Amino acid sequence: MTMNEMNAIDPQPRRVDAESLKAAIVDKLAYAVGKDSIVAEPHDWLAATILVVRDRAIDRWMESTRGPYRTGAKRVYYLSVEFLIGRLLRDAMSNLGLVEPIAEALNSLGVDLDAIEALEPDAALGNGGLGRLAACFMESMASVGIPAYGYGIRYVHGLFHQEIKDGNQIELPEDWLSDGNLWEFERREAAYDIGFGGTVESDGMAGDTVRQRWQPQEKVLAIAYDTPIVGWRGARVNTLRLWSARAVNQIHLDDFNRGDHVAALADLTRADTITRVLYPADSTVAGQELRLRQEYFFVSASLQDLLRRHLKQFGTVENLPDKVAIQLNDTHPSVAVAELMRVLVDLHDIPWEKAWAITRGTISYTNHTLLPEALESWPVGLMERLLPRHMQIIYEINARLLQSARKSLDADADLLASLSLIDEHHGRRVRMGQLAFVGSHKVNGVSALHTELMKETVFRDLHRLYPERIENKTNGIALRRWLMQANPGLIDLLVEAIGPAVLDDVDRLVEAGALAEDAAFQERFAAIKRANKMQLAEVIRSTVGVSVDPDAMFDVQIKRIHEYKRQLLNILETIAVYNQIRMHPERDWAPRVKIFAGKAAASYWTAKQIIRLINDVARVINNDPAVRGLLKVVFLPNYNVSLAETIVPAADLSEQISTAGMEASGTGNMKLALNGAITIGTLDGANVEISERVGPDNIVIFGLTADEVAAQRRAGHNPRAIIGADDRLRTVIEAIADGVFSPDDRNRYRDLVDNLMTTDGFLVTADFDAYCRAQREVDAIWREPASWQAKAIRNTANMAWFSADRTIRQYARDIWDVPVG
Ligand SMILES: *Cc1c(COP(=O)(O)O)cnc(C)c1O
Repeated sequence: MTMNEMNAIDPQPRRVDAESLKAAIVDKLAYAVGKDSIVAEPHDWLAATILVVRDRAIDRWMESTRGPYRTGAKRVYYLSVEFLIGRLLRDAMSNLGLVEPIAEALNSLGVDLDAIEALEPDAALGNGGLGRLAACFMESMASVGIPAYGYGIRYVHGLFHQEIKDGNQIELPEDWLSDGNLWEFERREAAYDIGFGGTVESDGMAGDTVRQRWQPQEKVLAIAYDTPIVGWRGARVNTLRLWSARAVNQIHLDDFNRGDHVAALADLTRADTITRVLYPADSTVAGQELRLRQEYFFVSASLQDLLRRHLKQFGTVENLPDKVAIQLNDTHPSVAVAELMRVLVDLHDIPWEKAWAITRGTISYTNHTLLPEALESWPVGLMERLLPRHMQIIYEINARLLQSARKSLDADADLLASLSLIDEHHGRRVRMGQLAFVGSHKVNGVSALHTELMKETVFRDLHRLYPERIENKTNGIALRRWLMQANPGLIDLLVEAIGPAVLDDVDRLVEAGALAEDAAFQERFAAIKRANKMQLAEVIRSTVGVSVDPDAMFDVQIKRIHEYKRQLLNILETIAVYNQIRMHPERDWAPRVKIFAGKAAASYWTAKQIIRLINDVARVINNDPAVRGLLKVVFLPNYNVSLAETIVPAADLSEQISTAGMEASGTGNMKLALNGAITIGTLDGANVEISERVGPDNIVIFGLTADEVAAQRRAGHNPRAIIGADDRLRTVIEAIADGVFSPDDRNRYRDLVDNLMTTDGFLVTADFDAYCRAQREVDAIWREPASWQAKAIRNTANMAWFSADRTIRQYARDIWDVPVG
């Protein structure tokens, strides 16, 4: 035992009844916020409340952190460039069982909890699903009792704030830290040097090889900021440790005194830039060097930190795989493979083979995309300049990889070129996904379909060489956040109907399935949905000024705007319905509200055009009296976790309509189905498994399968022929091309239309007819309310398998080899 816990001084655990909490809030308001209750503003009450909840989290935090020192338990380190956390107050209160007493305490002080909660900034340190997965996993690891640390970057500006002006997306900087962040603790003791550039020099012998030493030319400091992540019932509190860059020399005084203020502050600016902004993951080549700097910066800091902790406790790196599991969330942290090898070989004098066994035993990698353009690769020249020693190590790993391929696969030149960590075709680049693959003991995909496609496409040859390495771990979501917190009405109903045990054992949700046909239960289930829709209707009215009928079907597509997610297919079908309503006003139309939300990467022109088209179509349809309110279209700006928490519980229909084979998993699909929305979707990503779990009668599946998409592409997709043969589709496209929705600029959508008619790379036209038919099937179900409610209930009842707790237990058992509670 290296830590002397005998002498640990424990604080007095705090009381959690409403009366004590009230006193604590008043105390914090005075002594921590420095405000008199007479003049306190809502944000002051929020600060006092956060501090009171934080204290109660800290009581559990210390104990959780101490545990592994006492027991020698293995720790899990989750490395991710994105953590899409959202607000933390409700999460922490709910998991600590404090929602009711805090609400009561505040109420007696004349303060409304809901109102102050809405003032907490939404931490958007991520783009979308991948970052939200990391956040859900942090909550789940704490809930199932795994000692875990999340490691990431403390971006000063998270994902941009989206506004819509004249239908266009405008990007404004997101300033989540501008009023401080009460959840985080700066850790001065956890500050590390991070090197860049410079040279590699020989430095004596290590055994029978020459020891290499990297002499970086430039150094910045990484400073840790810790946020406690509270698990369910406060069982464990884990740490999210985010790194901020700081210059070693904040200022060069001599330059400053000479009057050259820019030179004086150059180091400061250079360091500051590293953790200033989150890079949009979908952007192309711009800012490559900065992105690589960000990745190496946080990987190096994280490895130094976990090795310091490990060495302090065990005094050796040899048992690293037994005590440490490092999970790479996608390709961005893959330089960890080379960095860990460098540390072991150069700094700890471990022979190569042994270092490689330790590295591979410790690291594992999650792949999140099959899109070749999204699998990172860095120009060899850039790597050599920024990370010269790592480049040498990558060459050595590659030489050994190709050697073993020659031996075990009898590989020819083509196969070797495909396996190589160096892509020779595109101006010599390092393939970071392959580096992560070879440096890991397990590589996982995020849905059954995605994992199979991984074996056939991106990693086909590596899979032949290492057939045991790829495994599936279908994504999940934190049910506490996405059901219990986001939809309190529904969880209360479920507790009443099937008992409170469901709160601790979500698999019991399945018991609600027995009530699917029960008229009284259906009525209450529907009433909760309607109340949630009323709330969303109010948000819609106040943000975009459109009034919508809560009795209409709320049809939602909320996710990043991307061609493969096919918001375009949705809006084309919307236009087709619009045309039909005008042509056949006498028919019995099921009233719908089409709700869209999502951000487009700032540099993604086509995605921004799609946003504009949705807004143009919305303006025309919402203002056409001939529609008689039967159809409304709404684009809600600035999609983020908080907005998702408002939309998801209010959705009737969940649009999951990606081109099959392109959505690795999806998690939005899970949140919506869990909250009783019926899915209309393609057989893509986790939709396949959702369909299996909820049953084919409770989901509407349409369109080409992944195999059929591949076949259609091979055969040569001909959108012009499809459009020519379908009057409805042709009319829709002509309307867009003729400027029906853009009378002020008839050519606005020329490129979008041209693209649809010539290439249609995401097979929108190929699935259009099937999608329209599927939507009419949805209408038919909607007209039978009892049938709709039964299906909605069966969705909720059968979604517990998509709990992130299940996913985390599978990682723990199959990849990390750690026990779970
Ligand atoms: C869940 C979630 C996502 C992922 O949505 P998909 O539909 O799976 O792409 C993206 N952004 C936010 C804010 C989310 O909560």
